[in-house]
Amino acid sequence: MQPQAFSGPCAFLRLCLLSLAALVFAACGSTTPAATAVVQPVTEAAPLGQPSLTSPSPAQNTATAGIQEQPEATEAAQAQAWLPIPDCSAEVNPTPSTTEGPYYTPDTPERTSLIEPGVVGTKLVLTGYVLATDCTPVAGAWLDFWQADGNGQYDNTGYGLRGHQFTDEAGSYYLETVLPGLYPGRPPHIHVKVQAPDQPVLTTQLYFPGEASNQGDSFFFPELLVTMQETVEGVMATFNFVLDIR
Ligand code: FE
Repeated sequence: MQPQAFSGPCAFLRLCLLSLAALVFAACGSTTPAATAVVQPVTEAAPLGQPSLTSPSPAQNTATAGIQEQPEATEAAQAQAWLPIPDCSAEVNPTPSTTEGPYYTPDTPERTSLIEPGVVGTKLVLTGYVLATDCTPVAGAWLDFWQADGNGQYDNTGYGLRGHQFTDEAGSYYLETVLPGLYPGRPPHIHVKVQAPDQPVLTTQLYFPGEASNQGDSFFFPELLVTMQETVEGVMATFNFVLDIR
């Protein structure tokens, strides 16, 4: 007797079950977005002040410097992009020291922004590295800044436009402040003390290019000029301190 696989009530029931199974398989096997979504890598902006001295390359640094290419970049990230990689191919000379002047106040607050409500002046972001003479970065170096405001006025009773910070692991620093103004007999300048751990203190001043009064200033050295770039956000400047150590 031939098997009657597709005839009779049992065969009909079997066909119904097969059809139902096919429908269930088709429904459950359909592709849902959750099942096939590709997990996109999360791109994090590098923390401020952590570019190494070997990566990214100068070309990459330039390529990422444009604000247009990083619409979500924070101001700090923009400053980091602007932070040039030190050129260690040339001879690295120690940063000249120059006079402390009469307005230094010790025990300043630790902070990376000197901008407070009521501060007068054009915003300035100053970034750079602290290096040894062998061009290696100095992590944990102490930097203590003090300066006049945009009108050339010092705060000699409080800590206005005064503050210290330490370089990060890459040896870089980041300071938000204002462009100092002229005061009688001096071109615009920012005072700073820099010290590598357990090393002597370098006391010096930073100057700004294009100031006619720089050349007549008895404390001026061309090596103390910052590199500047004007942006819609304000003025960005860089300066690498080289300490006579190692
Ligand atoms: Fe001064």
